[in-house]
Amino acid sequence: MDRIEKLCVDKGMRMTDQRRVVARVLSTSHDHPDVEELYRRAAAVDPHISIATVYRTVRLFEEAGIISRHDFRDGRSRYEEATDDHHDHLIDMKTGDVVEFVDEEIEKLQHAIAERLGFKLIAHRLELYGVRQEDA
Ligand SMILES: [Zn+2]
Ligand SMILES: [Zn+2]
Repeated sequence: MDRIEKLCVDKGMRMTDQRRVVARVLSTSHDHPDVEELYRRAAAVDPHISIATVYRTVRLFEEAGIISRHDFRDGRSRYEEATDDHHDHLIDMKTGDVVEFVDEEIEKLQHAIAERLGFKLIAHRLELYGVRQEDA
């Protein structure tokens, strides 16, 4: 059983074969696919799966907190497995590629800013948008 499927079972979700296919595709995707891309990958495993099923399953997993949804300003929701390992994203505006990074200084600075404003930081999302220097 892959990680996402196990989380679904732990949460008491009823796992159909098609939900299992979507779970497996998400578990093995290390990029940030949108629903159409997930559908292409799922259909390669089960040609009978519909995009509506993939869409509903993704929403279900998202509502259960098993996957995270991102909006990288291209009008498509992208998904990735929700993990405890925090990271931020740099989006290549030319190709749509997503680079993950963690920078300790930025992390610390964000806590300091929140503290200065009288808050305790609970969460944040940081997205950088750029083009590769050779493409600029
Ligand atoms: Zn961060
Ligand atoms: Zn990511």
